[in-house]
Amino acid sequence: MTAVADIMDYDEVVERFDPVLGLEVHVELNTRTKMFCGCANVFGAEPNTQVCPVCLGLPGALPVVNAKAVESAIRIGLALNCEVAEWCRFARKNYFYPDMPKNFQTSQYDEPIVFDGYLDVELEDGEVFRVGIERAHMEEDTGKSLHVGGETGRIHGAEHSLLDYNRAGVPLIEIVTKPITGAGARAPEVARAYVKALRELLLALGVSDVRMEQGSLRCDANVSLMPKGSSEFGTRTETKNVNSLRSVERAVRYEMQRHAAVLAEGGTILQETRHFDESTGTTSPGRRKETSEDYRYFPEPDLVPIAPSREWVEELRKTLPEMPWERRKRVQQEWQLSNEELRDLVNAGALDLVAETVDAGAAPGEARSWWVSYLAQQANNRGVELGELSITPKQVARVIELVAQGKLTNKLARQVVDGVLAGEGEPDEVVEARGLEVVSDDSALQKAVDEALAAQPDVAEKIRGGKVQAAGAIVGAVMKATKGKADAKRVRELVLAACGQ
Ligand code: ADP
Ligand code: MG
Ligand code: ZN
Repeated sequence: MTAVADIMDYDEVVERFDPVLGLEVHVELNTRTKMFCGCANVFGAEPNTQVCPVCLGLPGALPVVNAKAVESAIRIGLALNCEVAEWCRFARKNYFYPDMPKNFQTSQYDEPIVFDGYLDVELEDGEVFRVGIERAHMEEDTGKSLHVGGETGRIHGAEHSLLDYNRAGVPLIEIVTKPITGAGARAPEVARAYVKALRELLLALGVSDVRMEQGSLRCDANVSLMPKGSSEFGTRTETKNVNSLRSVERAVRYEMQRHAAVLAEGGTILQETRHFDESTGTTSPGRRKETSEDYRYFPEPDLVPIAPSREWVEELRKTLPEMPWERRKRVQQEWQLSNEELRDLVNAGALDLVAETVDAGAAPGEARSWWVSYLAQQANNRGVELGELSITPKQVARVIELVAQGKLTNKLARQVVDGVLAGEGEPDEVVEARGLEVVSDDSALQKAVDEALAAQPDVAEKIRGGKVQAAGAIVGAVMKATKGKADAKRVRELVLAACGQ
């Protein structure tokens, strides 16, 4: 039995070594159809229902490139400050795997569609780290193997395997960083922040669902170490398919510690793929890394080259949305938020919701306060994300408007929100149905005031005698009588007036 690999204390690792990272992120595009055929690109369908001769690799079937996927690839490249190739081709990457029916993957090799860019990544403390982008290329996803009967879900120990080709041929973009150096002790954090920023960018572009847990965004983390003072890269390992942001950080950190322990004892690191185990936070060996020669890449003869015209590229550039981090900066200024307030808003997943509430006419302060306090609390009680609550920013804006118009008190407003969340309709409908509107009609209030004064003659006498602080008891009684629907300030005015004050 092999013992758990020895790892070096992290502080010692970063004292003695400099890490180099390389991140490869695969993104499934959300195009309607697959990369080279008209099959639907959907997640979760019955196995082997979204297939045709092309994506099953049947003899004689011919692929056609999905233009929308090329468009997405170029937009991703532009957002990553990349060059767009004037001309590029697909290539066949030859290898056998049961979930790859053609026995080759149609990919790109030395002619990626976009290359040489960067992404500026903001770390938790606000420091910005620039990550170079080597290239992003187009390819297709493989099918899925399901290994049944084993404990781990891996093929070892399984009794049989099932194959689902629905995913075969789904458009993928692989985004590859240049070697990331200079991150030192912060390398694991940089890795996480990079994937997070990339995910946000893809979301803003609207090109993918970017669900790490469903595999529409997958990250392979390459790690190597060089002794402090050296600038010659060490041998890397590639930890495959790390499927959460937290795991990216943990996997990089663990590999740094493992490499260091091996190197410190004079051992060598094998260039291999590794698997990350979420439960133990450790990695285990996968396969020895092939070199690119093993794949016998050659240009795909069944597809024409792609030559995006410069006009088209410029048109696509105009479709780029405001980048998430730019928007954060703008919003911070417009709403006059401190760094901390902004961070809270972002961490609560409330930024978009607040922005939409403001767009619907609410004041930023009010909008923010609703989403980060009362609504956040409601989401928390229900165990859902803020965005999953069944209330829209527009409805929240309407509630805020009703408060501003004096038609609702804050307390009544919360009841209106409760009604909307409970599916009772629009805010105005809830106000109507639950009878929540503030009693602003003075004659109705006057009656309640007179009754309260009559019920507490001693208090009334005190007020008449100049003890205006005593008015609180009468105001309280009126609020109770009107079930909190009165405007307390107005009630107080009426009480004082009634007592000649
Ligand atoms: P592969 O075909 O092995 O996946 P790629 O070129 O697609 O290779 O990706 C390798 C990644 O690792 C890139 O991000 C690259 O910048 C990075 N990389 C290359 N050499 C090293 C190294 N010695 N240490 C860490 N990362 C490296
Ligand atoms: Mg690769
Ligand atoms: Zn198909």
